Amino acid sequence: MDRRNFFQGSAAAAAAGLAGCAATGNAAGNARTPFAVNSIAIPIVGSDEVFPVRRIYCIGRNYAAHAREMGSDPNREPPFFFQKPTDAIQNVAPGTVPDHPYPTLTRNYHYEAELVACIARGGRNIPVATALEHVYGYTLGLDMTRRDLQRAMGDEKKPWEIGKSFDHSAPIGPIHRVAQIGHFTKGAIWLKVNGATKQSADLSQMIWSVAEQIAKLSEANEIYPGDIIYSGTPENVGPVVRGDVIEMHIDGLPNLSVKIV
Ligand code: MN
Repeated sequence: MDRRNFFQGSAAAAAAGLAGCAATGNAAGNARTPFAVNSIAIPIVGSDEVFPVRRIYCIGRNYAAHAREMGSDPNREPPFFFQKPTDAIQNVAPGTVPDHPYPTLTRNYHYEAELVACIARGGRNIPVATALEHVYGYTLGLDMTRRDLQRAMGDEKKPWEIGKSFDHSAPIGPIHRVAQIGHFTKGAIWLKVNGATKQSADLSQMIWSVAEQIAKLSEANEIYPGDIIYSGTPENVGPVVRGDVIEMHIDGLPNLSVKIV
């Protein structure tokens, strides 16, 4: 290659390197790998495409009554986020009741019913006014929690990780695109165990709306297409044991059910 082509090639390689770094934080690209790692995706309703998941963010204590039941003051607390690993996702098809494994190490395994917003357009410091333009669609999900370990770690000022970020801890329904279903600012959200209502609230009771969550999260981290945000659970979280069937509902979405085994 001549000198001019060499420099053009170098510039292109540098640009590709930067783009790769920004998008994924690694350099695998098309390089061969010694083993395969599953990529994680969620089905999209009415499409043969799937939604590739980059990160799972979860907001904590986003309903006042739930914040109080967790022992905090909902009026003074800014929103905070934690993450689950993407392979915590358990895809749950509507109309099915798949087995959900009771996890190891806990003796107090809790459900949390949540609206989930799925991001298709990234950004930093996103204004609340335009935040919903970043949403691809919505679904509903369970933020399953080893409550005893979450509490114990909190008491010891250690990370929540083991209480929140474990295998299968994110059962989730298929994604409905905004074009099909609109945005969710109000509507019933409930959860039943074996047919008995445990959680029952309205999305309008969220302390931080989905738009505000996106704005706040994008101040802490640049968000990217493929990020999903669990938007917090209402009050009356509680335990399940093996054999229990959880059913959760959000107005406008098909119900999600799992059986604890
Ligand atoms: Mn939660």
